[in-house]
Amino acid sequence: MIQTRNLHYAYPGGMELSFPDVDVAQGSVLLLSGPSGCGKSTWLALVAGLVAPTQGTITVANQALGAMKKVASDAWRAGAIGFLPQKLHLTSALTVQENLAMAQWAAGVPEDAQRIQAALQSLGVADLAGRKPGQLSGGQAQRVALARAVLLKPQVILADEPTASLDDEAAADAVALLLDTARAQQATLVIATHDARVAQHLSACSDSQIAFQRLQLGRGMLEKT
Ligand code: ADP
Ligand code: MG
Repeated sequence: MIQTRNLHYAYPGGMELSFPDVDVAQGSVLLLSGPSGCGKSTWLALVAGLVAPTQGTITVANQALGAMKKVASDAWRAGAIGFLPQKLHLTSALTVQENLAMAQWAAGVPEDAQRIQAALQSLGVADLAGRKPGQLSGGQAQRVALARAVLLKPQVILADEPTASLDDEAAADAVALLLDTARAQQATLVIATHDARVAQHLSACSDSQIAFQRLQLGRGMLEKT
């Protein structure tokens, strides 16, 4: 679950962004939409605990962000939140296998090759474990990054513009993959996007078993501080 209250964020010297309150039940899907620059990526960074709000509270998986000490919160976040960033941030010098092992290390759990293999398998990329990111197609790299994001069975999956630069068919596949992955893990899924195709794909994919809500951010969220 994700709950935010009175959430504000200001970049140093920048605009103040204010966000509407959000309640996302565990296992449901939130589509965070709105034009470029309205604050979608910032909202994800706040909910992922990567930046601290200037005002307001965030609860993720029953944990109030900011309530833990830094080291504990870094490890908790690595396990509880799966982040699929827009730029995938796979480490180019490491193999796919090693990239996933790094995620286990970051969360302070023992390296578990079997689990890595299972995660890659579930996304159809187990045969790519020995490759470096530079040897993957865009779609393969995204699957690997998603395998890494869900490796520790996070309760929340956050995806930033997962269909950017994908053609219609690949975009539909990416949305279906995210939904399937979230459902298999009973995770809460947030897709942040300005891509209008995602809403169509989500409605087409989601059946009555998935609660799906939409939050549209607008330019009105921006206030000069
Ligand atoms: P979106 O993901 O919806 O395109 P962002 O969250 O990236 O929007 O950006 C929201 C607003 O914050 C924009 O006006 C953007 O210019 C500004 N912004 C984003 N990142 C920074 C930054 N690092 N420093 C200052 N302003 C930023
Ligand atoms: Mg963005």
